[in-house]
Amino acid sequence: MSKILCVLYPDPSTGYPPQYARDDIPVISSYPDGQTLPTPRGTPGFKRGALVGCVSGELGLRGYLESHGHEFVVTSDKDGSNSAFERNLADAHVVISQPFYPAYLTPERIAKARNLKLALTAGIGSDHVDLRSASERGITVAEQTFSNSISVAEHVVMSVLALVRNYLPSHDYAVSGGWNIADCVSRSYDLEGMHFGTIGAGRIGLAVLRRLKPFGVHLHYNQRHRLPQDIEAELGLTYHDTPQSIAKACDVLNLQVPLYPKTRHMFDDAMFALMKRGAYLINCARGDLCDRDAVVRAMESGRLAGYAGDVWFPQPAPSDHPWRHMPHQGMTPHISGSSLSAQARYAAGTLEILQCFLENRPIRPEYLIVDGGRLAGVGAKSYGLS
Ligand code: NDP
Repeated sequence: MSKILCVLYPDPSTGYPPQYARDDIPVISSYPDGQTLPTPRGTPGFKRGALVGCVSGELGLRGYLESHGHEFVVTSDKDGSNSAFERNLADAHVVISQPFYPAYLTPERIAKARNLKLALTAGIGSDHVDLRSASERGITVAEQTFSNSISVAEHVVMSVLALVRNYLPSHDYAVSGGWNIADCVSRSYDLEGMHFGTIGAGRIGLAVLRRLKPFGVHLHYNQRHRLPQDIEAELGLTYHDTPQSIAKACDVLNLQVPLYPKTRHMFDDAMFALMKRGAYLINCARGDLCDRDAVVRAMESGRLAGYAGDVWFPQPAPSDHPWRHMPHQGMTPHISGSSLSAQARYAAGTLEILQCFLENRPIRPEYLIVDGGRLAGVGAKSYGLS
């Protein structure tokens, strides 16, 4: 029997379960590239549309795990050597963690986790696991590819419009009883006609490009491999072979690459110096793609007109993290990929992967990041170990 250690974000401050705003969520039949939705065996232990990503939600896993005799420990106490996470790590066979509230599996923690066989990300993006150490130890790393890609793409589009139209400060004026139209519109522009680019045009980046096409913007992208010609033609895309080239060309830039050693601090002072004065940067990929203090300098100097996204380093961000207080930003906690709609998909995918692992069946290649001592499946396509 296995011990499954699961780290989830804390319950709502108003108690669990929350009062839901809606009674159901739409049924999605497949992902945009034809990949099938999660296919766990049996009925998942949660109602679609329920809050399952927090501690009391338990990703709906307890019924399946306990009925098969496994030990299931769920906690949000994840940081520090006295945390419940570290106390339970030594004999855990499986660790489940969400990127929104990551249980960082550092080389030191992996060394302590002598029984660990599977690091399972409930969501997408497994950079909170030291992938090199996981490979060396033969630990499998898996996530639910596509489960929240469209959720993030929608958040990116919202952020683009919020920044360019100066929505958030204008809303604040309305709430506070004001009618300061001149103050609101002094930083408000139309997106139409602007140059929008994404670094990383994978599942999320391409979905963002598709959603922005009807806004009448010029679309650009950069990644290491070009997209198929028919997609470039359909969307009228301009390809850039370096991040520097796309940074110079765009009014609004989106980051949508995985975080690994080569992409860490891709945006530093030198990169911001290349951008147009008054450009906007959206980052719903990973906080550490940007040098934290270089972002603040770019915002304070006016090089950037706005910065938005939901990803920070570390997470949770400390209360004095400078991105919380810099001007003209549209930051949120890490929420874009954890809508109730996304939770239903990644909780079902987590169950599917657990069932495969515990019942000795292969995990789908599109869910694998590390397997058999190396980057594997989707991980081999999108990540690097250096
Ligand atoms: P994909 O793997 O589908 O796409 C990533 C793209 O990045 C690939 O197309 C790849 O193309 C490109 N890429 C990789 N390395 C580089 C590089 N050095 N320079 C330029 N492009 C590069 O991933 P997703 O679109 O599903 O997700 C992207 C990231 O978004 C995730 O890794 C995760 O960190 C983050 N994410 C955030 C969420 C949130 O809640 N905020 C939720 C889900 C994901 P190529 O190989 O051709 O370079």
